[in-house]
Amino acid sequence: MGNKRMSPFFLMDYGSKVEFPPTDTPRGVGVHPHRGFETVTIAYHGRVAHHDSYGNSGIIGEGDVQWMTAGSGVLHKEYHEKEYAEKGGMFQMIQLWVNLPAKDKMTSPKYQAITKDMMGKYQLPDNGGVVNVIAGEYKGVKGAAKTFTPINMFDIRMNGHGIFEVSLPANFNTGILVVEGKVKVNDTTEAPSDNFVLFKNDGTDIKIEAMENSIIMLLNGETINEPISAYGPFLMNTPEEIHQAIVDVNSGKFGNLED
Ligand code: MN
Repeated sequence: MGNKRMSPFFLMDYGSKVEFPPTDTPRGVGVHPHRGFETVTIAYHGRVAHHDSYGNSGIIGEGDVQWMTAGSGVLHKEYHEKEYAEKGGMFQMIQLWVNLPAKDKMTSPKYQAITKDMMGKYQLPDNGGVVNVIAGEYKGVKGAAKTFTPINMFDIRMNGHGIFEVSLPANFNTGILVVEGKVKVNDTTEAPSDNFVLFKNDGTDIKIEAMENSIIMLLNGETINEPISAYGPFLMNTPEEIHQAIVDVNSGKFGNLED
């Protein structure tokens, strides 16, 4: 997602909705490290099981968010949850990489398991739908996530013809992913599902009108104005810090985890 235009969001891993057949060998990603940022997983369909090198584990279910602060470093693995894999079914998730400022890159790893019930909820007018506030604030409704830099992250579930309006700081970066349905943005741009709309930093008012029942992920945050050195699963400020991360993984400083 680039350095400056979507900072502090560094990467978005998104697959459009797909149906997986039943299987006895769950799909997923084997043991790998992270350092220097946060991974935020938002589950729309399907279930993912998670384990890490500190003994933490959990299941991310439909409508839930896992906010993992990798910080100084974890090894983890992420697989389709066993019962879901055995039954098969729809799968759709977003994983975001959220950068951390230099002063927090080596913070202790931690998790925020944010279930849909924990999110702040704002009912849109005229039966327009609901805004689930994951992080930040919308019209006085606060999100559940604690963030290191100012971030607004909204899961917006809109009924057809519902209207969502918001005013956001002009110097923050903003984008929306259309997860489901079709919307019209600022009375001009039509965006169907699986499309990402990146806003210019030249205004504050955003209007989203649902042309059918739609699900939107809105990402908004203050730019982290620091150099970026990125390599594989590490997101640091300098090449020296990347080198140190590799040394630390190889010397066991991220702990141990079986595949
Ligand atoms: Mn990972």
